[in-house]
Amino acid sequence: MIEYEGRVFRPPSEAHSLIVQVTIGCSHNKCTFCDMYREKCFRIRRLDQVKRDFEAARQMYRKVDRIFLADGDALMCRAEHMAEILCYIREIFPECERVTSYGSPASILCKTQDELNMLHTLGLDMIYLGLESGSDEVLRRVNKGETADEIVRAGLMVKQAGMKLSVTCIAGLGSLELSEEHAIGTAEALSRMKPEYIGLLTLLFELETPLMRDWKEGRFYLMNPIEIAQETLILLEHIDAEGSVFRANHASNYVNLAGTLNADREAMCERLRQALEGKVKFKNEAFRAR
Ligand code: SF4
Repeated sequence: MIEYEGRVFRPPSEAHSLIVQVTIGCSHNKCTFCDMYREKCFRIRRLDQVKRDFEAARQMYRKVDRIFLADGDALMCRAEHMAEILCYIREIFPECERVTSYGSPASILCKTQDELNMLHTLGLDMIYLGLESGSDEVLRRVNKGETADEIVRAGLMVKQAGMKLSVTCIAGLGSLELSEEHAIGTAEALSRMKPEYIGLLTLLFELETPLMRDWKEGRFYLMNPIEIAQETLILLEHIDAEGSVFRANHASNYVNLAGTLNADREAMCERLRQALEGKVKFKNEAFRAR
């Protein structure tokens, strides 16, 4: 049996991957909008525990194409620790085509470029990095723990290592007050990184978080669908990320968008303009989810 502690999160594109926890929780765990790992005390799992899970999976599955290393920032373990895990994956899942993990900016920046290069050589193919916003003021308010410049530097190190980079950001995170700054700053940060994949989510409250409390108590304004569409339009008008696959087709988004930048930018902008004119319907609140 594979052991999972607590709720396990994974990017939508890892829906069919084998998931094994290399760490438990998130080493930062302080972003005011995030409830994912609140109940978990961060720790790195022992190698023998991780290997036992892989052995259990080998018994259960004849073919494993993709592996996602959980939790919030599996990359926070030392490079040698991760290297041993990657070697073990190669040994017992020779058929595996892709190994990925979340990587918090801190977990990337605490590695040298040589260490990241080595991890890629050993099979780490892609990192999911949360930018959330390219505005330092938004990042400060949500207690992200890093500046936009630091997150961009982390993203560029991942790319330099030869790994693919998938970056997420969150519409509405700066509220109306910082909406334009958030949109333009995020477009600039994404343009500097030009990640292979960009995922735009929309802020949504489900479980209690500090930001949700601020909203309930009137200290934070949650933007409406029209304001979110206007903000997304500004973001797309300012982005220059040739080749990046852009997706805003998550359950939290009011208007689904998908395309490859920069070629499909105008078509996505047009769809947003149509939504603002009432020609494309916003997703009903009841159908939004995280
Ligand atoms: S770094 Fe990521 S997982 Fe950790 S608290 Fe922030 S958003 Fe949540």
